[in-house]
Amino acid sequence: MKHYDVVVIGGGHAGAEAAAASARMGASTLLVTMRKASIGVMSCNPAIGGLGKGHLVREIDALDGIMGKAADYAGIQFRLLNRRKGPAVQGPRTQADRRRYQSAIQRFLDEQRNLSILEGEVVDLKLDPNGATHAVALADESWISAKSIVLTAGTFLNGVIHIGDQKKVGGRIGDQSSVRLAHRLADLALVQGRLKTGTPPRLDGRTIDWSVLDMQPGDDKPTMFSFMSTTPVARQVSCGITATNEETHDIVRENIGRSAMYGGHIGGVGPRYCPSIEDKVVRFSDKSEHQVFLEPEGLDDETIYPNGISTSLPEDVQELYVRTIRGLEHVKILQPGYAIEYDFFDPRGLTLGLELRSMPGLFFAGQINGTTGYEEAAAQGLLAGAGAAARATERNFAPLSRTTCYIGVMVDDLVSRGVTEPYRMFTSRAEYRLTLRADNADQRLTRLGVKEGLVGEERARVFEEKADRLDHARTILEGVTFTPTELLARGLVTSQDGVRRTGYQILAFPQATPEIIGDLSPQFAALDEETRVQTFRDALYVQYIDRQRRDIAGLQRDEGVEIPETMDYAVLAGMSSELKAKLLKLRPRNLSQAGKIEGMTPAALTLILAHIRRSEKNRAYSG
Ligand code: FAD
Repeated sequence: MKHYDVVVIGGGHAGAEAAAASARMGASTLLVTMRKASIGVMSCNPAIGGLGKGHLVREIDALDGIMGKAADYAGIQFRLLNRRKGPAVQGPRTQADRRRYQSAIQRFLDEQRNLSILEGEVVDLKLDPNGATHAVALADESWISAKSIVLTAGTFLNGVIHIGDQKKVGGRIGDQSSVRLAHRLADLALVQGRLKTGTPPRLDGRTIDWSVLDMQPGDDKPTMFSFMSTTPVARQVSCGITATNEETHDIVRENIGRSAMYGGHIGGVGPRYCPSIEDKVVRFSDKSEHQVFLEPEGLDDETIYPNGISTSLPEDVQELYVRTIRGLEHVKILQPGYAIEYDFFDPRGLTLGLELRSMPGLFFAGQINGTTGYEEAAAQGLLAGAGAAARATERNFAPLSRTTCYIGVMVDDLVSRGVTEPYRMFTSRAEYRLTLRADNADQRLTRLGVKEGLVGEERARVFEEKADRLDHARTILEGVTFTPTELLARGLVTSQDGVRRTGYQILAFPQATPEIIGDLSPQFAALDEETRVQTFRDALYVQYIDRQRRDIAGLQRDEGVEIPETMDYAVLAGMSSELKAKLLKLRPRNLSQAGKIEGMTPAALTLILAHIRRSEKNRAYSG
C-alpha cells in the first residue's frame, strides 16, 4: 500500500488549495480526484472575488495560496466593487476566462513540490479511531494510506441534477456523482443534510444582439488579487447589461409549477441571497425588471454566462423566457440551467481547524461543510490542508482567529453556529471589518504564514521589503507636525486649537488625500505610489478601530437585554429582509439569543438594541 502524509480527496477549489497548502508545509501529499482534466473547474459563474469573497482571495494569497494568482492570470475584466465606499468594504472581483483559470491552477499544482496527483474515484475509507493512520480505497480496489485525509467532495456527494421534472444523478453537469463514498460516510453517523444550488443556461454569444445592450467595461486601473501581481496578463473585455421584463416574469409565473424547485422535486435548501429567476419573480413580485449581466466565459469562447437568471425550469420554458429579454430575442441556449441537490455535513462537528471532532486526522473542507462559492471553498481548503499537514508532520497549526481574518470569521461561524442555508461570505459577518480589509491581508497574515511554514521564501522576502517601506513612510509622517493654520491653508479644516498634528494623524482627516499630504511632506511625496496609498488606507481607520472595539465590548455587556415579544423588525432600516424574516420566525428573547442566529451581524444587533432603547425612551416620555 502506498503511503502519504496527507491525501486530499477532490480537485475542486477546496481540494486544489488544500493540496497546495499541505505540500507547501512540507508534507508528502496526494491529490485524488475523479477527473484530472477538471481540476480547478468553475462549476457555475466564471468570476472570482466580490464583496467579502474578494477579502477571502486576498487572504488566501497572503498565505501563499494559488487562487489569487490564477485569478490574475485568467482575469479578463477587473472591477473593484463598492469603489465609492471606504476601503474596508471594497471587494476586488474579476471576470475569469474559465480555461485560463483552470490551466493556471493545474500548472501551479503540477509545479508544486511534494505533491502528486492521481485520477480516480475514492469509494471507501478505512479510519483509525485513534487517528494514527487512515486509508482510502479507489474504485479499482487499491488502497492508499495517509496520516491525515482532507475530504473536499463539493456538490458530488449523492448529487442529483434537476431540470424541470427531469432528474439525474450527477456531481455537476457532465460529471458523475459520488454515491459509494456518500454511503460510506453515512456509516460515520455524522449529522448531515441536503442543500441545493442552481446555475443559469449558457448562451451562444454569436446569437446575442450586442448592439442594443449597455456595455460595462472593467476598471481603468485594475485591482489585482495577488500581492505578487502587478497588471492583468489577458486581454480585457466588457460585459453586456440587460434586464428581464414583465413578459419574462409572466412566462416564469405561468410555468412555476414546472420548476424543479417550486414543483416540489427538491427538498434541499438553497441560498436565499442568490435567488433563481423563479425566486425573484415570486419573492419580489413588485419588481418589473431584474438586471442580467452577460458575462463572457473566455476570450476564445463564444459562451456567455447570463448572471442573474439561474433556474430549474424545463428547457422549453428556459428558451421561452430567455428570448423575452432585450438583446436575447434570437439567442441559442448551449446548455440549460439546472439545480443541483447534494449532501453536506453539519460543520458543528468540526474543530476550528476543520478536523472532525469524532475522527482525528479526517478534515472536511468546502461545499460539504454547507458553504457555497469557490472562494469560501478555497479558503477552507487552505486551512484544512495546512492543518492536515501539520498534524501528519507532528507540528502545531494555530487556528485562525475571527479577529485576524475573514477565513477565521467563516470557520468560527460554521463550527459555532452551523448552517441552515448555504453559507456565503459577506463583509457584514466580520465585526472587525475596519481592520480586516482586502488591502491589508498581507500585513495581517503573511508573517503568520511564514511562521507556520505555509509561505515560501520569495513571498516572504517581497512582503518584508514592503513592510519596511510602510514603516519608513509612517516614520516620516509621524516625524512631521503641522499647526491648524498650516492645514487650513491646504484646505484641511480642523479645530483651531493651536495643537500641532502629525502627518500620520492628518492622513485620517476626511478631506485628506495622499497628494495633499505629499504637498505638506516632500519626503512622503518622494515615496512610490503603492506605499503612499497603503499608508493612507492604514491611517484612515486608526481612530475608528478603538471605537469599534468599544462597540463590541458594549454589545457583549448588553447581551442580556430582553427583546419585547412585540418587537417590530420590519421598521429596522438597514437590516436585510432575510435577517428580518429569521428574527420574525425565531423571535429571540434577548440579544444573546439573537446573536446566535445564523447570519446575524454585529451591525444588525446594534440596530435591534438602538430600537429597543428608543422604544423605552418613548414609553418613558409618554408615560
Ligand atoms: P467542487 O468544486 O464541487 O469540487 C469537488 C471535487 O471533488 C471535484 O473535482 C470532484 O471530481 C471531486 N470528487 C468528488 N467526489 C470524489 C470522490 N469520491 N473521489 C475523487 N474525487 C471526488 N457558488 C456560488 O457562489 N454561487 C453560485 O451561484 C453557485 N452556483 C452553483 C451551481 C451549480 C450547478 C453548482 C454545481 C455549483 C454552484 N456553486 C455556486 C458552487 C460552487 O461551484 C462551489 O461552491 C465550489 O465549486 C465548491 O468547491 P469545492 O472544492 O468544495 O467542490
